[in-house]
Amino acid sequence: MLQNRLEPVLDPRALARALSNKLLIDGTLVPAVSGRTFPVVNPATQERVADAAEGAAGDVDVAVKAAAKAQKSWAKLAARERGKLIQECGRLLNDHVEEIARLIALETGKALRTESRVEAGVFADILTFYGGLGSELKGESVPFKPGMLTLTQREPIGVVGTIIPWNVPLLLMALKIAPAMVAGNSVIVKSAEEAPLAVLRACQVMNQILPPGVLSILSGDGPQCGAPLVEHKGVGKVTFTGSVETGKLIYKMASAKLIPVTLELGGKSPMIVMNDADLDKAVDGAVIGMRFTRQGQSCTASSRIFVQDAIHDAFVAKLKAKVDAMKMGDPLEEGTDIGTIISQQQFDKVKSYIAFGEKAAGAVAHRCSALPRNKELERGFYVQPVIFTGISNDHKLAREEIFGPVTCVIKFKEYEDAIRQANDSDFGLAATIWTRDLKTALDATQRLEAGLVQVNQNLVVQANMSYGGIKQSGLGKEASLESMLEHFTQKKTIIINLN
Ligand code: ADP
Ligand code: MG
Repeated sequence: MLQNRLEPVLDPRALARALSNKLLIDGTLVPAVSGRTFPVVNPATQERVADAAEGAAGDVDVAVKAAAKAQKSWAKLAARERGKLIQECGRLLNDHVEEIARLIALETGKALRTESRVEAGVFADILTFYGGLGSELKGESVPFKPGMLTLTQREPIGVVGTIIPWNVPLLLMALKIAPAMVAGNSVIVKSAEEAPLAVLRACQVMNQILPPGVLSILSGDGPQCGAPLVEHKGVGKVTFTGSVETGKLIYKMASAKLIPVTLELGGKSPMIVMNDADLDKAVDGAVIGMRFTRQGQSCTASSRIFVQDAIHDAFVAKLKAKVDAMKMGDPLEEGTDIGTIISQQQFDKVKSYIAFGEKAAGAVAHRCSALPRNKELERGFYVQPVIFTGISNDHKLAREEIFGPVTCVIKFKEYEDAIRQANDSDFGLAATIWTRDLKTALDATQRLEAGLVQVNQNLVVQANMSYGGIKQSGLGKEASLESMLEHFTQKKTIIINLN
């Protein structure tokens, strides 16, 4: 299958051009039926780097039919064999980490060293992790009556529709396609309008190993291409990461067909820093948690930081100093820590939140780092990170997901009050508490309303740890064995009467 093995292309602009006007359907790169395309823009310069194929309902239909056909033989392979092929994809992708990293940096504006290269590496790692879980697709036998053999088995659902956003497109795609395929489903991905290239390249690499039709990817607009995928009668399951608003629309479309959905939506994650915390570690945790290197474009961003009164001012000063030391610049340069916001639309939105926050009585916007001075980046969507103080938890900035480098540090006196405010949110994705007191730490883990609660650390998604929100943050878990079993299989009960 690998006679004409793809060679890595390290010039991201050349690779972007080569991936122009292509969907990947049934193992083949094809233009959209309509022949239409849409521009892919480098957010650091506003240069047009590619024209992505604009898929629509007709392309969805072709892809679903091919996927349904491919799924039948895919499901007949032993689960461990499927797993081995997915692991082989992971190994092959290791050779493509650098080209894919550069492509992510080019299309999303995320810095190569701090973000894009890390993401490309994690993609391969997630495939390797799930590839090892094939033999876990086990059923149960249930004691029933003498002479009766009762058992359950896990079966694939069929064709899985996967819709992903632009902020960490490869990682989020991996968390969906890997468990879905190991479980015996075929998958069709609809990429985000802003970031269609790196995910297409990754799927192209994987298609050197996978049978045609098992993994297809379409680019196109949400309502024109994503919605027909969700609504297609050949699609038996939808898994989505994106905004709450779109998540609810997808849930509604899926309910008309009564198919299961997994939804990973927004967040407004609290971080509680007690007076007795290790201040330096907490500050480092805030830098990581707020994803300043990703311009705050993360659903788990620690965008509400509750700091106890005695250390509040020191915390803000240290946090500002840390972010000041980070370099904003060309995403493709090794020295750059912070790149750009994804698009004009998000840039305007983030700016308007900052302007609105500045109007609040008592609010102070501490602007950090410095905008790049290079002439070629002057049209880039760069936003200086902002740490707000003097914003209350009921202010718009503390309630809504900004998806930009903006965090609110909110002073509190009593622990009880911090817990109450942390939980006073529509979201429930992630939360952290920073303290040296074991009793306080344990108490907080029990009371914080979030799918992921961490003490004295702020790690990102980890393979093998269930990840997913409660409240408006979503439905279901990802990244774990549980995700594969609960979200990509259906259980059948079999009763055999031996009497
Ligand atoms: P944002 O627009 O803030 O990036 P969205 O949640 O709208 O976030 O987008 C996430 C993904 O959902 C993208 O791939 C987008 O194309 C897709 N999408 C948007 N609207 C719809 C829709 N009505 N039906 C299906 N998919 C959609
Ligand atoms: Mg949208």
